Amino acid sequence: MSDLEERFLGTDAGAEAYRDAAERAREAAIDATDTDDPFSGAEPDAIRASLPEDVLPESGIGLDAAIDEAAADILAETVNVSHPRTAAHLHCPPTVSGLAAETMLSATNQSLDSFDQSGAATVVEERLVETLGDLFGLGDGSDGVVTSGGTQSNFQALLLARDRYCEERLDHDAQAAGLPPQADDLRIVCSAEAHFTAEQSAHHLGLGHDAVVTVETDADHRMDVDELDATLDRLDEAGNEVVAVVGTAGTTDFGAIDPLDRLADRARTRDAWFHVDAAFGGALALTDDADRLAGIERADSVSVDFHKLFFQPISCGALLLDEREAFGYAARNDDYLNPADSALPNLVSKSTQTTRRFDALKPYLTFRALGREGIAEAVETVCTTANRAATLLDSSPDFALLAEPSLNTVLFRYEPREMADDDLDALNTAAREALFRDGRAVVARTEVDGVEALKLTLMNPLTTLDDIADTLDALRDVAESVDVGSLTARDA
Ligand SMILES: *Cc1c(COP(=O)(O)O)cnc(C)c1O
Repeated sequence: MSDLEERFLGTDAGAEAYRDAAERAREAAIDATDTDDPFSGAEPDAIRASLPEDVLPESGIGLDAAIDEAAADILAETVNVSHPRTAAHLHCPPTVSGLAAETMLSATNQSLDSFDQSGAATVVEERLVETLGDLFGLGDGSDGVVTSGGTQSNFQALLLARDRYCEERLDHDAQAAGLPPQADDLRIVCSAEAHFTAEQSAHHLGLGHDAVVTVETDADHRMDVDELDATLDRLDEAGNEVVAVVGTAGTTDFGAIDPLDRLADRARTRDAWFHVDAAFGGALALTDDADRLAGIERADSVSVDFHKLFFQPISCGALLLDEREAFGYAARNDDYLNPADSALPNLVSKSTQTTRRFDALKPYLTFRALGREGIAEAVETVCTTANRAATLLDSSPDFALLAEPSLNTVLFRYEPREMADDDLDALNTAAREALFRDGRAVVARTEVDGVEALKLTLMNPLTTLDDIADTLDALRDVAESVDVGSLTARDA
């Protein structure tokens, strides 16, 4: 038996080696998710120093040793996303069903760019996006593609919106000729709380991020429709052209859901593309609160992330289109992958990627294993936990609750005593950093109405109110050692 045989699947020796390595790697991963605290607190320099000097040695150290070393040096210094006090970002503990799918898709290593590299994987992705089209009420002509997440989905949606606008309104083929002479006038409208990838996409699309016009939000952080109307009138007067209206279903900080139905009305009257960024809130469609997404069924495109509230391993998202034909604005044919005369499904013409993982298997297997109810239970649980956390914060004299939760985020501030606003800002920032270094809990920071705020994003259905109380205690504890006077003196 040659060494090569145990380095690849396909022989008994390879299967045996895979079984052993998978077992070893799996145990290492389980250990890394079974820690007292979410993070060791290690600084980047210390982590760098602990890694082997020689990343690429002339002769390898062998697989067992490499796995053990990675477990000790690397996994032990990662953030434990399955820990109940990890509550910073929209970063989920993965379901066991998602992990099982990850094992299957990584070992079989299908690529979704052509049917002859994927077989059933291509068909499964098609079935998955059909199911999602139904879930969001997009109708029979809908279609979709699995993406790396909201960033890619939002980018592609706005690319298609731009190119449809150019073709239908300017009789200009942007795919062939690039930006039209009128490019300076094109605008994308979203709320002031929309995800930064709207502006990033505008930049990548050659429109520049100044082409994104933001609309003020109401008291609940949803796009204010009167302001939207005023903005659209202003753009008309200035001779600008609205290519797309972007509604957000779940803003990153507040979890706010724009009034999608009314946005759809505005987009429709102006013949603008209506994109809904449901990367965060899309999972509500599985729950009894699905009606909070009313209007999403009128979207031209929808972004949804499975690696957030669908609890799938990173990375996994989708872009859904109301009209399958719209993928054509970005489609290309290449003789080697998807020749124009081929009758086989070739998903490459729907994607901005070429080689592409079979990530569709993760939500697919999870849907089959847990059903709608099973996922809804997790979504509803984290939202309930957020409400209970808000109540706890509101009743704690040394904390201020900054907003009622809409989904599973909780915005608050530590206010232990009377202090100038600047000092409170400095204290909250420093306390959060100290907490991360301490490692007992991971919370996020953001800004709310011009002040520094702290945020819990409660992604773990197993997080209890006691865990949240422990997080607040740890925050109080580390905040003790923050010398506010010296922080503001240093800033001054
Ligand atoms: C997370 C998020 C994104 C970005 O998605 P990625 O999956 O991180 O690429 C975009 N929009 C919203 C509303 C999000 O919550």
